[in-house]
Order: sequence, then C-alpha cells, then structure tokens
Amino acid sequence: MYPDVQLLINGVWTPAASKRTLPVVSPASGEVIGTVAHAERADLDRALEAAEKGFQVWRKVSAFDRAKVMRKAADLLRQRADAIAPLMTQEQGKPLVEAKGEVLAGADIIDWFAEEARRTYGRVVPARADGIYQLVIKEPVGPVAAFTPWNFPINQVVRKLSCAVAAGCSIIVKAPEETPASPAELIRCFVDAGVPAGVVNLVYGVPAEISEYLIPHPIIRKMSFTGSTAIGKQLAAIAGAHMKRVTMELGGHAPAIVFDDADVDTASKLLAGAKYRNAGQVCVSPTRVLVQEKVYDRFVEGFLQHSKGVKVGDGLESSTTMGPLANPRRIDAMQALIGDATKRGATVRVGGNRIGNKGNFFEPTVITDVPRDARVMNEEPFGPLAIISPFSSFDDAVTEANRLPYGLASYAYTRSAKTANAIAAQVEAGMMSINHHGLALPEVPFGGVKDSGYGSEGGLEAIEGYLNTKFVTQAGL
Ligand code: NAD
Repeated sequence: MYPDVQLLINGVWTPAASKRTLPVVSPASGEVIGTVAHAERADLDRALEAAEKGFQVWRKVSAFDRAKVMRKAADLLRQRADAIAPLMTQEQGKPLVEAKGEVLAGADIIDWFAEEARRTYGRVVPARADGIYQLVIKEPVGPVAAFTPWNFPINQVVRKLSCAVAAGCSIIVKAPEETPASPAELIRCFVDAGVPAGVVNLVYGVPAEISEYLIPHPIIRKMSFTGSTAIGKQLAAIAGAHMKRVTMELGGHAPAIVFDDADVDTASKLLAGAKYRNAGQVCVSPTRVLVQEKVYDRFVEGFLQHSKGVKVGDGLESSTTMGPLANPRRIDAMQALIGDATKRGATVRVGGNRIGNKGNFFEPTVITDVPRDARVMNEEPFGPLAIISPFSSFDDAVTEANRLPYGLASYAYTRSAKTANAIAAQVEAGMMSINHHGLALPEVPFGGVKDSGYGSEGGLEAIEGYLNTKFVTQAGL
C-alpha cells in the first residue's frame, strides 16, 4: 500500500493548511498511486518558525547526545528497510534490490555523520603574548533549507539531513514531489528516534515557490541543493543576493577513459553495470566512454553484450535489473537526444526506443560515431544511454574529458600506475575512480567542480558546510 504523504512541521505530521495535495504517479504503470501534501506560504511560515525554535533547542544539545539520537534513527532505518524499499520502487521505479541498498546506505550515512558530530573540533592557536588564549570554535550555521531530487529519494535527503542534524542545525527539507513517501519514512526515523520538535521539518509543493521564499528568508542561514546545473545557478544567485551559505551538487557528464593497457573485459562489465544502475538517472553515471583505439572494438563488443543482458521491467519483479525511468520527461529527453544524434550521423548499436506505451520503460542504449556537436555530447542524458567514442593519445582523452563545463565524476581504466597518476591529476573533476567504481561512500568527499557545483556531501568536508568558524581571543584577568 502506498501512503498519502503529509508534511512534518514542528514535530507533527500534517496535511497542508489548504488541504491541497498533488498526485503521485507510478513510473511503471502511469497510474496514480497516492498523494502528497502541497505546502503553501502558511505552511512554510509555520515550518520556518518551527525551524527557528528547533535550532535554539538543538544547538544546546551536546554533540555526544545528538550522535545518540542519530544512531537510533540509523537503527530504525535499517529495521524498516524491507518496508521502505517497496515504497521507493513504486514511486521512483528502481529495482527493489537497489532501493533496499539505498535505504541501508542511508543508515550508514547517518551513522558516519553521528560520529563526525563528535569530531567538530576547533583548535587553540599559539598566542603572541603570555596569558592570551586564542580559540577557534565551530558552531552550527543555523536553520538550513535543503532541496532534493527524485533520482535517489533517500540518499539525496539523508546526506543533507545528517550533516545538518550532526552539526546542531535545524532543517526544512523540500523533498521531491514525485517520490515523496520514502524520504518521509527516512524523516520519520529521526522523529521516532527522539529528535526534538522543529529540528527536522519536511515540505513538498511547487519547488520554485518554496525555494524563492525560503532561501532569502532571514531565518534560513544555509541552503543545499541537488539537481540540474540550470536550476542550481538560479538558486545560487538567490543565495548570493542574500549572502547565504551554499552547498551545490549539480549535474555531470562523466568521462570514462579506457586506456589500451586496461583490463578491457572488467572495464566493459563495470562501466555497463554503472551506466544502467538506476536507469542511468545518476549524476555520477559514466556517460562519455572514451576508449583507446587499439581496444575499442573489443570494448564495444563487451559493453553491448552487457547491455543486451539487462532485464528491463517493473522494479518490484525480482528478475528486473533496470526499472522504468522515473518520469515521462526522461522518455522525451532520451528520444530527443537519440534523434538529434542519429540525425548528425551517430549509430545506435543497441536499444534506442521506448518499450511499450504504459509506464516509462526505455531500452538500454549504446550509440557510437557521435559527433562532438550532438546535443548528447554536451547535455547530461540522465538516462540509460552510453556514448562510446575512440581516442588515440593520452592528451586527446584529457582534452575531451575537460571539454565540457561539468566536472563531477570521472573514471579511468589502466594497468599503468604512471597513467593512473597522470589522468587523476589532469582531469578536471571533483572525483576520479580508477579501475573500479568506488564513489559515494559516506566517509569520502562527494562533490564537483566547475558547473557541477561546490561543497561536499561526504567525508569530513561535508559537515564543514554546516558550521561557522568563530574566533575567540581571551586574556587572563
Ligand atoms: P528540473 O531541473 O526542473 O528539476 C531537478 C530537481 O530540482 C527536481 O527535484 C526539482 O524539484 C528541483 N527544482 C526544480 N526547480 C527548482 C527550484 N526553482 N527550486 C528548488 N528546486 C527546484 O527538472 P527534472 O526534469 O526533474 O530534471 C532534469 C535534469 O535535472 C536531469 O536531466 C538531470 O540533468 C538533473 N538532475 C540532476 C540530479 C542530480 O543528482 N544531480 C537529480 C535530478 C535531476
């Protein structure tokens, strides 16, 4: 059963004041499966008031005690994973095994930041005179507004939520209207674990109306956004005009560079697996696969084999390895990008079409011979679409990898330590994974450069974004 999802304001689950709701549509059937409460100005004002009050309470709770509440929330999330995962599959489409993995990974993220809460150390700076103490102190930045997308309904929320709560901030989460139930269940774990009223608040509605109201509001001290670069730039501009702290996790167009000394079979297997995970709706998805000429044919053959082995279907079926796309916009985008590429001379090697006319199913797709000016070589496809191109020299690969304004994830395959070091140094990206796929663990930094944003959503860097640094100098009396 899919629930009617409510707002959480000041510790109380509630419909919108206006009683308005939005429908939630199954990406597998196209049918309405539930509703989500639609917040308006009156609800946001109550959430802001609650966040301010919650912050005043939570900032005084010791990091040691905040960590205890967070660890309890993580335990509850683990215990409830089997109930939450099907909600995510119903609303987002991803296979049940991926959904459950995301829920459990969410619990690990909460645990990591619970521990980091206890390590928000300041320092003592040696003074120039006797009897002077120079202290650097970390303080929570204040109430946070967080905006998260539909591709990882729990993961995108839990990174921001855990950082904020660990640091001693309160938070208003604007979670995705298209996939609202699983993030609401995540937040329920925090409520049930005993986080005080007002510390965590949850709203849904019209994203632009909410962000344009919350970001400039004097109660909000920081905003964090995950989504497209275009929207990220709009929100960063609003934040800039109001001098708000910002973390931005935006789009990518990840290059995956396979050198001719690589283990080509492993590379094709791992890259294809990564490409079709969550039907390619992943900001770190490998998209421009660049393969050195000598091994190009063999790599393409291997990638095609893996693509043909993907079982597309309803994510609730145990045989499914790739579910439907999350919304019909992705089908339109796939068709437009593939149509544009083929018009410019690209070859569809496998896939390329929508499957059926019910739900948002699309074939795993590989295209080759794609010219640089094709839209798909420049825009994030955010779907099950791989572009494979040959390259001749190391420098050619670097030039292509750095051609776009994006700089989020990047991948390389080589058996040479020298090449591995050189490619890691020269690709302009926030993350580089070499000979395996090891991104997005809670304990490592996660974020981009250039148009892919700034700030980190993982590792010890992430919590820094939710802390102010205060300097105190004190002389003995
Ligand atoms: P979109 O760009 O309008 O929305 C992306 C996300 O931003 C959604 O969650 C949406 O609710 C939110 N959003 C949109 N306008 C907003 C605003 N003014 N204020 C606050 N939040 C706002 O369109 P879309 O069709 O949902 O996605 C399109 C593209 O976004 C994708 O193709 C992909 O490139 C990118 N995207 C990236 C990520 C990521 O993980 N970085 C996630 C989802 C989407």
